[in-house]
Amino acid sequence: MNELLQKLTTASGISGDEVEIRTLIRDLIEPLADEWRVDALGSIIALKKGTGESDLKVMIDAHIDEVGLIITAIDGNGSLQFMPVGGLNPLVLAGQVVEIGRNKIRGVIGLKPVHLLTSRAEYSKIPTMSGLRIDIGAKDRNVASGMVSVGDRVTFFSEYVELGEDDDFGRTALSKAFDNRAACAALIELLQGDPYPFDLYAAFTVQEEVGLRGAAAAAYGIEPDVAIIIECTPAYDLPNDLDRGSNTELGKGAALYVMDSQTIQDPRLVRHIMQAGSANDIPYQVRRPGGGGTNTGSVQRARGGCSAAAIGLPGRHAHTGWMMINLNDYKNYVRLTDAALRSLTRAVIERK
Ligand SMILES: [Zn+2]
Repeated sequence: MNELLQKLTTASGISGDEVEIRTLIRDLIEPLADEWRVDALGSIIALKKGTGESDLKVMIDAHIDEVGLIITAIDGNGSLQFMPVGGLNPLVLAGQVVEIGRNKIRGVIGLKPVHLLTSRAEYSKIPTMSGLRIDIGAKDRNVASGMVSVGDRVTFFSEYVELGEDDDFGRTALSKAFDNRAACAALIELLQGDPYPFDLYAAFTVQEEVGLRGAAAAAYGIEPDVAIIIECTPAYDLPNDLDRGSNTELGKGAALYVMDSQTIQDPRLVRHIMQAGSANDIPYQVRRPGGGGTNTGSVQRARGGCSAAAIGLPGRHAHTGWMMINLNDYKNYVRLTDAALRSLTRAVIERK
């Protein structure tokens, strides 16, 4: 079992309250980094010194926060109102077990029992965020107030499980928050390797899910020449209503971004990553352009701008309590990012 992925995905870290995941990552990178600091927003900036062959300054960004909920009010009957932190579909919340606040109080997001539904219209009604409640089994508001507080963050209750066979497709893993803890694990693996020709700034950034916030401050502080953003990108490769090709597929390797709603990746850098993949026999795929966005949006435009691109690990069922990734893809994602870094020179980004 991949213990690093297990540890990182099961820790909580809803945007703005990343202390648990930050502490875990800090302890893991402390022996690996030459220097590290936590900035004012809560991102970890770690320096892996280079061999001195290149004067490039390179940033690798992986956001550490995850989507979840925040408690907004406690009803008289002890149930809890909430709103989303990051992009969440209310359909994936109904029936979920969650953990609330630092004490990880368990609760369940309830729905009207099927036995009591009376009309076809009631069956097909989609729940609204404001209509859902978390039930923590408290007698009333007084009791609930002693257990949780307004402002507490709410995390999906989930578990890390590996599935499938060691065949050519490979094993898959199921857990919450592969977006973006798989990238955090990859970045930790990169810090474990030999030094790169240049100084590498590993930025474990906060508050991506609420608008790419931590990475904006981190990139401003680092002022990189080149930035590679590592992310988890949705895979919609199961049979679907749209009946069109998937955006990314499990088992086909890491997915390169070309364009999304926030950015156009630096084509020179995208080409460089592709060449690194081909030269080292590392499979990769190109994510269908359009939609979405990553920290590239804020990193690329910090200060005077930098050359930036994103590498995504395809994950099914994104922003739910149970995402699925392919473990071969994960290995190839680490290898591709490493190979792209090892062969990166100033010539790649030089403008004529
Ligand atoms: Zn993400």
